[in-house]
Amino acid sequence: MIRFDNSYARLPQGFFTRTPPTPVSDPKLVALNRPLALQLGLDADWLTSGEGVAMLAGNTLPEGAEPIAQAYAGHQFGGFVPQLGDGRAVLLGEIVAPDGARFDIQLKGSGPTPFSRRGDGRAWLGPVLREYLVSEFMAAVGIPTTRALAAVSTGERVIRESVLPGAVLTRVAASHIRVGTFEFYAARGDHARLRLLADHVIARHYPDAGDAAGLLQRVVDAQARTIAGWMALGFIHGVMNTDNMSVSGETIDYGPCAFMDEFRPDKVFSSIDAAGRYAWKEQPNIAVWNLAQLASCLVPLMGNDEAAVERATHIVHSFPETYQQAWLARFAAKLGIADPRAEDTALIQRLLELMAGQRADFTRSFAGLADGTARDEFTDREAFDAWALDWQARIEGLPGARATMSRANPRRIPRNHRIEQAIEVACEGDFAPFERLDSALRSPFDEREAWVDLARAPQADEIVYRTFC
Ligand code: AMP
Ligand code: MG
Ligand code: MG
Repeated sequence: MIRFDNSYARLPQGFFTRTPPTPVSDPKLVALNRPLALQLGLDADWLTSGEGVAMLAGNTLPEGAEPIAQAYAGHQFGGFVPQLGDGRAVLLGEIVAPDGARFDIQLKGSGPTPFSRRGDGRAWLGPVLREYLVSEFMAAVGIPTTRALAAVSTGERVIRESVLPGAVLTRVAASHIRVGTFEFYAARGDHARLRLLADHVIARHYPDAGDAAGLLQRVVDAQARTIAGWMALGFIHGVMNTDNMSVSGETIDYGPCAFMDEFRPDKVFSSIDAAGRYAWKEQPNIAVWNLAQLASCLVPLMGNDEAAVERATHIVHSFPETYQQAWLARFAAKLGIADPRAEDTALIQRLLELMAGQRADFTRSFAGLADGTARDEFTDREAFDAWALDWQARIEGLPGARATMSRANPRRIPRNHRIEQAIEVACEGDFAPFERLDSALRSPFDEREAWVDLARAPQADEIVYRTFC
């Protein structure tokens, strides 16, 4: 049994449509996240039972669920779309975990909704497994993120570039409220609902924020810290549209996302991002752009005058400082410096420039600092050695430098070629590589003989250049 308490569904008409999931023909459990179930106070054994799997597939509704598809708008690649909304997901409801935190339980890939437009409302197994692995890895390394509670295969076919097996992901989030949710009401001039939404978000995520200005500040701060976390992992979200930016600060919507192998600041994976708008190095700038959209939405709640515009602008402009601080903390820790000084920025930048110039492997270069293998990632070893001398001088005598490094530099990341390999065989019914990857990524920092192959960079013929959503 799940005790739901559905605060979003209690909002008045206009925030969502009541839409049940569409049943599937042959649901089978592919993955259940037991540690997360425990944290949420859910009965993992029940979730794996026939009844539980039927719920995770959308075939039966648990008591207290009130399935809804949420309305939202968004800027996609810079262009405004006044209506997007949950086109292939339904929010079953909210639960309050034993620790008091409130979470959305959402089924993604659960069938058409009034927001589906031309889409089929479904997901195929590949992106479901990708999101499961990557979002759980993000959680394991301490980056705010939505979570993956379960994945089920549907027994049905989904038509994309080819015919593919269907799947449903159970996604858990602090909420699914996006910058685009605010844009939906702001674009319609619906200030009453805008106010209700802001009050809901303040009560739910930022109870001490006070007013709309305070809310904006908190979202700016949360996003600055999250994006700094992405940068320190070589993570590229891929579709940083405003509808894919959560107001809670959680990383959301793992579509064509990927982690870099070789470090290239202008790297893009997504097949739909030809112009490189969402390249690795652009992510903080895009975050500011997105937050400026949120700021515009909130101006009507801040007095709707010149002073409000100025205040909102000022808050958005606080992003770089918070971001820079978070960036420095993250990257300095990767060098073993727990308590960074402003000058450490130059030391970090020099290493990043060397890495970029020599296309060093992002993850291995940092993970190899602690054990001296980092220099193997560089072709010009002397250049690396020259940098390393200055670095050694900086960390000499720093207590716990090694421990700091090993907590900040994962050995294993969800490498794109490994994800693709796992998906390929999963489509044939073999989930062993997926399960192995899932286990290995839950403890990404320690050295483990059994998983050394997962820490390797791809061979030339294994490299995955493009990802699709
Ligand atoms: P995304 O690019 O995943 O952020 O999705 C953008 C919009 O397209 C959202 O409104 C989604 O709900 C919708 N969408 C994506 N895929 C599908 C699909 N297969 N069927 C219906 N709607 C979809
Ligand atoms: Mg989306
Ligand atoms: Mg998506």
